[in-house]
Amino acid sequence: MRSVHREYASALHIDGSHGEGGGQILRSSLALAIMTGKPFRIDNIRAKRKKSGLMRQHLTAVQAATQISGAETLGAAIGSSRVDFTPGAVAGGEYTFSIGTAGSTTLVLQTVLLPLALADRPSRVVLEGGTHNPFAPPFDFLDRVYIPLLNRMGARVSATLERPGFYPAGGGRIVVEITPAKALSPLELGERGALKRRHARAVVSNLPRDIAERELDVVRRKLEMKPDEMEVVEVERPVGPGNIVTIEVEHEHARELFTGFGEVGRSANRVAGHAVQQCQRYLHSEAVAGEYLTDQLMLPLAMAGGGLFRSVGMSRHAETHAELIGMFTNVRVDVEPCEGGGVLVRLAT
Ligand code: AMP
Repeated sequence: MRSVHREYASALHIDGSHGEGGGQILRSSLALAIMTGKPFRIDNIRAKRKKSGLMRQHLTAVQAATQISGAETLGAAIGSSRVDFTPGAVAGGEYTFSIGTAGSTTLVLQTVLLPLALADRPSRVVLEGGTHNPFAPPFDFLDRVYIPLLNRMGARVSATLERPGFYPAGGGRIVVEITPAKALSPLELGERGALKRRHARAVVSNLPRDIAERELDVVRRKLEMKPDEMEVVEVERPVGPGNIVTIEVEHEHARELFTGFGEVGRSANRVAGHAVQQCQRYLHSEAVAGEYLTDQLMLPLAMAGGGLFRSVGMSRHAETHAELIGMFTNVRVDVEPCEGGGVLVRLAT
């Protein structure tokens, strides 16, 4: 048996309060550790959040990472501010991860998807919990934006939303089938090309349809969208109340998706307005990746050994990712301003 304590003497030390200081630094460290085989210790977990330490969703992410890689893990408990993680070899297979609350399934998936996309054999992963949570990628973003990019890099991943789960009731279910790639190929996304298609969707779960109609009215006015570019979706057999607006934008070489999350006390106008604002920022730029895709795309590119993409700009999440990538791999992240706005993010060894 390996000695956990001996290995931690040489483990990477990560300060969880550093940079963005949320759950992402933990999830991405887990993913990078599994893929590089490097153990790490993380302290001050989520020190910058109101309720610091591991919450249910982060604990599930640690447990999921432990399970897929046969890791030895210390500190995996609710409220814990330190985790020691020594990964073994990643194994594809059948996994079910239930978060038990409305905690985000997509963030747990973010932890295991990339390692499983590089595993020894195919996987089928079932995730239960929230599928459309504020501050997390909605299922639609993974399905329409992130997963297609992984597939362009050589993996074969498909995701099915069996039941949506909105915060706070949760109760959603996602099934993900993964056929791994031997290695991911680098991706160069310097230009997005011409605009081909736009599509807006307003979803209501256990809430009046007219909320969604008012939201799409805002989208129609502000983005001059036509009726056949928009749809209202009423969730069948809803678990709890929920509302979301997504605007998908497809260019020749890129697809992006922007979201507004409904919340008690937030007007339909504000929910739709938030999605519209992000979409307008993107359309006025020449970027391939919006804010969220920028931080998420860096990890697969690092594992591919390189690549580049044009972005609206670097968020703190993205900067934290760049630093983590530098700690776990020999890939460098260079960011240079582009003429006409935004930045070019380049990863190379
Ligand atoms: P954290 O705040 O540290 O828990 O990390 C949140 C993660 O969710 C980051 O990777 C963000 O890019 C991602 N994220 C948050 N909101 C969205 C959104 N609306 N669409 C796509 N990804 C998102």
